[in-house]
Amino acid sequence: MEANSSDNDTRFSTKQSSSQSTASRHDWKLHEVTSLFEMPFNDLLFKAQTIHRQFHDPNHVQVSTLLSIKTGACPEDCKYCPQSARYDTGLETEKLLEIENVVESAKRAKAAGSTRFCMGAAWRNPKDKDMPYVTKMVEEIKKLGLETCMTLGMLSNHQAHALKQAGLDYYNHNLDTSPEFYGEIITTRQYQDRLDTLENVRDAGMNVCSGGIVGMGESAQDRAALLQQLANLPEHPQSVPINMLVKVKGTPLDSVDDLDEFEFVRTIAVARIMMPESYVRLSAGRESMNEQMQALCFMAGANSIFYGCKLLTTSNPETHEDVQLFKKLGINREQTKSLSDESLEQRIIDELEQKTGQDASYNTAQTSNSDLFIDATKTSIKEISAR
Ligand code: SF4
Repeated sequence: MEANSSDNDTRFSTKQSSSQSTASRHDWKLHEVTSLFEMPFNDLLFKAQTIHRQFHDPNHVQVSTLLSIKTGACPEDCKYCPQSARYDTGLETEKLLEIENVVESAKRAKAAGSTRFCMGAAWRNPKDKDMPYVTKMVEEIKKLGLETCMTLGMLSNHQAHALKQAGLDYYNHNLDTSPEFYGEIITTRQYQDRLDTLENVRDAGMNVCSGGIVGMGESAQDRAALLQQLANLPEHPQSVPINMLVKVKGTPLDSVDDLDEFEFVRTIAVARIMMPESYVRLSAGRESMNEQMQALCFMAGANSIFYGCKLLTTSNPETHEDVQLFKKLGINREQTKSLSDESLEQRIIDELEQKTGQDASYNTAQTSNSDLFIDATKTSIKEISAR
């Protein structure tokens, strides 16, 4: 089901200066964030959905696939993670995968509808001797026309530049939780190390994917402080994964109390309000959520998910279940497009101008790259690029 054009007219015509100022805010105070969390649930969802519609097509969801390219035996002590060598979770470790195997997985992901292929390695940080191999991996996946993302742990400045040079589009490095709660979860690296890695990624010119995990026993204030940290970065992360803890037997958090599901939805909604242009990803923990809960998350402003039955080492809904849910909700997956392909973008702009009869100033003044992409999919991006 396609969103009709009147939805988009509404989206553009209702864009308000208050939301535009929210988009560029990097000075959130903690009490402002907690006030958002404390809003009546319906008011919060309405606010989040209203902002969502001003920056995104409400019926499109971006789909990524995540593959573990090196599994387990990690020296770090993240208390939620079954890949830490410190916890006995029965996980089978796996060495760095062969590039051909990764390419085959990426082809399958693309065929299943993913637009972004994310590769994760259980490392504290990549060693310099690993870099030629992982950069080659990025180059091979890029040839398939997929966006690429990697999560390899802490990254130095020169490693970030090497990945950018290879064509890596996104680098994932989560802040995980608030600075105050962080020491309860990880002791083998500091919060500042994480911020430094994100700085190196930005400095190299890559898109930042950074979010956190909730349901680890943190307080409501910690959840607010996590979002405050993310929104107050020099640029909002382009992707913000919000994970619900998946409790894995053998990890120190395997019997922590469940987080109330409405609190999770609130976290999505507040992230959407504070970082309006970002893609907010409904990430780990989706398998335990029913369809209604996931629909509430989309209503709250989530517009990205991971596809595929595995998320690194924990399970995820089967692809056909997601396809069914999207069908029930009238959600369209975004289609593959290389954001770096400027000539294609120009052709799309020309096409849109012809269709709308509006002048170029409209496009440059009011249409962001992501808006452009979303609208362009309706005129069939494949059709345009094939010409
Ligand atoms: S989250 Fe990453 S760094 Fe932490 S233990 Fe797991 S694989 Fe290692």
